[in-house]
Amino acid sequence: MSLDSISHRALSVIPGGVNSGQRRVPGLEQLVITATRGATFTDSRGDTYTDYHAAFGPPLLGHNDPDVDAAVAEAAAHIDLMGVGVTQAEVELAEDLAALIPSVEKVLLTSTGSEATFHALRVSRAATGRRLVVKFQGCYHGWHDSVSMNVISAPERVGRVDPISTGILPEVLDATLVLPFNDSGAVRRAFAEHGADIAAVIVEPVQHNVGCVLPVDGFLQVLRDETTRAGAVLIFDEVITGFRHALGGWQSICGVTPDLTTVGKAIANGYPIAAIGGRADLMDTFSSAPGRPVFFAGTYNGHPAMVAAARACLRKLRNEPVHEHVFALGEQIRSGLEEVFSEAGVPASVAGYGSVFVAYFMDGPAPQTYTDLLRNDAAMFLGYRRALMRHRIFELPLNLKRSHVSYAHTAAHVDELLMASRAALREAIES
Ligand code: PMP
Repeated sequence: MSLDSISHRALSVIPGGVNSGQRRVPGLEQLVITATRGATFTDSRGDTYTDYHAAFGPPLLGHNDPDVDAAVAEAAAHIDLMGVGVTQAEVELAEDLAALIPSVEKVLLTSTGSEATFHALRVSRAATGRRLVVKFQGCYHGWHDSVSMNVISAPERVGRVDPISTGILPEVLDATLVLPFNDSGAVRRAFAEHGADIAAVIVEPVQHNVGCVLPVDGFLQVLRDETTRAGAVLIFDEVITGFRHALGGWQSICGVTPDLTTVGKAIANGYPIAAIGGRADLMDTFSSAPGRPVFFAGTYNGHPAMVAAARACLRKLRNEPVHEHVFALGEQIRSGLEEVFSEAGVPASVAGYGSVFVAYFMDGPAPQTYTDLLRNDAAMFLGYRRALMRHRIFELPLNLKRSHVSYAHTAAHVDELLMASRAALREAIES
């Protein structure tokens, strides 16, 4: 049976042939992945791509990092899931997270970022006795109902409820207020009108689910001020920014400390583990504490092999110049792309931070609002990324998606990327 037939077999037993919505790329032949290594992956045709998609962000150290993988193998060899009590490694990971992330006094482990944001919202509603949650257009916080709306919205859906799924009760949709990111006035107005009913504000402090929209000066502080004044909970969803931009997350860069923080992805270089942490008084209301009312559970929470992965990953992020390396390459890529686009006479807004980059096909400075992003020429954005694939460079060909560099990428990869970009841009223009 050829590997190519796997994509056909997949379609008959797996809805859409993939196990997560955005792994199926419209207009692209289904990829069957056979191996990953360092900065690359290989498909069933034997083609090896330099990978800037990086599975939406976890493998900051590169695929199959030998130190993380060795830690997982070692843990798996002597302990697996027991479902009672705690391990020393869980305690040490919690201590590490509390020491690294400014807002974190206590921490609970989950398997995914969605679970972490789910629990953050539940505990906020429980602690405040309030109903409403505020999220921002363009932010993604996972698949659960309270936040399943207004991520990448068509222009005509901006400014109204835009669910990403059917099957969500209207009363749940009604309990989330969607506001424009970076619009302090809109936040103040929402609090003036609904403040007494707002349980939480949840935000990606840097909007990476639409590429890279940085918070404008003062915006996150306004969220802090308004939530404090109204007695609401401020949640930074640092599932992408955590560890990737700094060991202490974006909050350690911007100096605004939320009440709760969710992390995941780069915490364990690709192994499924995430966490929710924050103020001890809020965290202590979870049912993991005796007699406390906010239900918290998960069969796989704190799985020894995943905890080992996280500890090995954090150790490496601390002990090796990972951030220095990926930040330098990210900077070279962003300035290189600006040159490539300007040489080709194609308007571009190259955005990013640290290891993250994205070239929007639009003129003007880096975007600050979702409305700015609507100017991105999606057809060119996708055409360029599909052309990059012909040069064996993989940046996910879906509109507004960000790209990542890892510790396994080198200066030679950057040269290869910029050369391929030059050619891909020409091809995208001509097609
Ligand atoms: N929050 C953010 C900011 C994310 O980007 C994601 C995943 N892309 C999630 C939460 C959900 O994480 P998971 O896919 O692990 O459930």
